[in-house]
Amino acid sequence: MIKLEHDLHVHTFLSECCTSPDQTPENILQTAAGLGLKQIGFADHIWANPAIEPHPFYRKQGWSQITRLREELDRIDLPENLQVLIGCEAEMAGPGRYGITREQAESLDFVLLSTNHFYLEGFVEEPPHRTPEALGEHMLAMFTAGASSGLATALAHPMLPHGYLELYEAAMETLSDQQLVDAFGVAAAHGVALEISGNYLPDRRRARNFDFAVPLRIISLAKRAGCRFTFGSDAHTLEAMQRIKSLEFFIAALELTLADLMPGLAAVIEYPNS
Ligand SMILES: [Zn+2]
Ligand SMILES: [Zn+2]
Repeated sequence: MIKLEHDLHVHTFLSECCTSPDQTPENILQTAAGLGLKQIGFADHIWANPAIEPHPFYRKQGWSQITRLREELDRIDLPENLQVLIGCEAEMAGPGRYGITREQAESLDFVLLSTNHFYLEGFVEEPPHRTPEALGEHMLAMFTAGASSGLATALAHPMLPHGYLELYEAAMETLSDQQLVDAFGVAAAHGVALEISGNYLPDRRRARNFDFAVPLRIISLAKRAGCRFTFGSDAHTLEAMQRIKSLEFFIAALELTLADLMPGLAAVIEYPNS
């Protein structure tokens, strides 16, 4: 079975929603080394596209996120055997409205594009009605636009509707396997990976958690469509970085191999009793 050695989605204190002062790059790298990781991807929230005025949430989260991260990293001794990747979690407000330009994206090691932060009211496009059918259709439209934007290395927490989780299972039931395979095929054709996300795991802060069958179906259909995957805890605290280990559940359940990972990601095959 594959043992994960990367986490491509970690937030630092630079993200506005990260309330833990302990979430410094230095502490993150130390925690990552303790977890046996060989590669860590910093992915703070960002809206850096100067052509579109962002939601107030992004007012202080422009390109300075990247320059400040680089300054922080310059100040510390990087651990040996741990590759640091500088990326971001860029926002998508709607088809054609992205929080990062192509030039900016090309200057980073990776870009996670979020196509479903539907809680950013009045900014990220929401479904026209709060119904499972409308949500399912909207998730697909946002997914396919983000996948073909030419900006994303991977899509963050794909097909997971933040702000609409109470409708999640019902919305997914309105979508056929073929519809999903077709949408995931767009990502595969553009060489855009899908993230296997810490958000797919149960979370005690949620009023109600969704069934594991939902992400299992998403990932298995994406595999069938030819998608490659990245793994990301989406940690906003040092404790939540442990989630990368829990994500190995999906590797076992879906028999994922190294060939299913986006090229360049750290992972090894571990044989039992060796
Ligand atoms: Zn996100
Ligand atoms: Zn995130």
